[in-house]
Amino acid sequence: MTRIMDYQVVAGEQLIEEIYELARRLAGCRVQHINSTLTGGGVAEILKRLVPMMQEAGLEVRWDVIKGDEDFFRVTKTFHNAFHGVPVDVTPPMLDVYRRISRENYDLVDPRADFIILHDQQPLGLAEIRPGHPGRWLWYCHIDPVDVSREVWDFLSPWARLCDASIYHIPAYARNLGHRQYIMPPAIDPLAEKNREVTPSEIAAVIERLNIPLDLPLVVQISRFDRLKDPLGVVQTFRLIRQEVPCRLVLAGGGATDDPEGIQVLQELREEAAHDPDIIILELPPTSDLEINVLQRVAAVVVQKSVREGFGLTVTEAMWKSRPVVASPVGGITVQIINGLTGLAAASTEEMARAVVRILRDPSLAEKLGQNAREHVKKNFILPIYFKRWLEILVTEKG
Ligand code: UDP
Repeated sequence: MTRIMDYQVVAGEQLIEEIYELARRLAGCRVQHINSTLTGGGVAEILKRLVPMMQEAGLEVRWDVIKGDEDFFRVTKTFHNAFHGVPVDVTPPMLDVYRRISRENYDLVDPRADFIILHDQQPLGLAEIRPGHPGRWLWYCHIDPVDVSREVWDFLSPWARLCDASIYHIPAYARNLGHRQYIMPPAIDPLAEKNREVTPSEIAAVIERLNIPLDLPLVVQISRFDRLKDPLGVVQTFRLIRQEVPCRLVLAGGGATDDPEGIQVLQELREEAAHDPDIIILELPPTSDLEINVLQRVAAVVVQKSVREGFGLTVTEAMWKSRPVVASPVGGITVQIINGLTGLAAASTEEMARAVVRILRDPSLAEKLGQNAREHVKKNFILPIYFKRWLEILVTEKG
């Protein structure tokens, strides 16, 4: 298990000292994180490392997952889409399902916690019991709420207002909820299996196991199979790229227990790919950190064609590995990809294809973008920086 001290090699001595200093002021505080899935997606990815780190720093930390049924996760996925501006139908029975499951989970809340952190909208209904609880409640909105439908916002925001503060990845996401707001972009763990350095023999073993030919450059997108990640658009982009430069496409991803649409999207993707031997679709189990690490490293170009993106940790992960990334300039990607410097931004299928072709034809551009990308992540989006920000927020809230 990685220790806080181990991050000195990437973060420097001073940051680690600051972390210990802040942690001393929070020693013994009870923190409860509540979200909607243990695996799959960015929130679980963050909590997997944040929770042990907080524990090591001397806080008493629990991570609980709201218990819902299929109906509930269908409703919350609809809300998720509505946050991202997708037109959805919200019916009174759906709202009833949300209220019922929220009520059934009230017992999940630690009555003695000093801090309750509700991640995203799925557990937000628990804030109903905030008025009788002694702790500070924080709503951590990991997704882009800018175009949320009025109907869904009017339903959910009263619970967000009951919280004591809210946290957003980028300033543009902040909502006026009549309480304190914090900006805290997430981060990747540079020492975790998914991001650590790997040896050539590890790479070779994974590539052999996944059966990926390396005779042509690989264009790679790693993502849950979600329409908002536009996997079909990636296939169309790839077809344009291939007219210019021979290459292969790898689309790799898995599901998340709180995302019931994944199977359907995967099926649509397979139809779109139509058994093209140069399109490799990989369904990854949740234990695929090394595989993702290797796929990102062997990519000639990593793409992220998201329609919306709360932050886009897959972008951060590829940038950390000094890969040239071409991504849609949406949501949290905009603070990661500085066009022409830390990657290339591309707003359409044609633009993305052109940008990928440019990189495939220009190794020195690929090299420069990759190096800048790694520096940008190192300065802004690595776990110790994120952890320090967390501690600052908790110290402020503690008062
Ligand atoms: N991820 C994974 N397996 C998959 C697909 C994604 O472990 O099959 C990880 C990915 O490496 C990243 C996170 O899940 O760490 C996805 O976070 P991101 O912010 O990119 O998107 P989200 O899924 O939260 O919308």
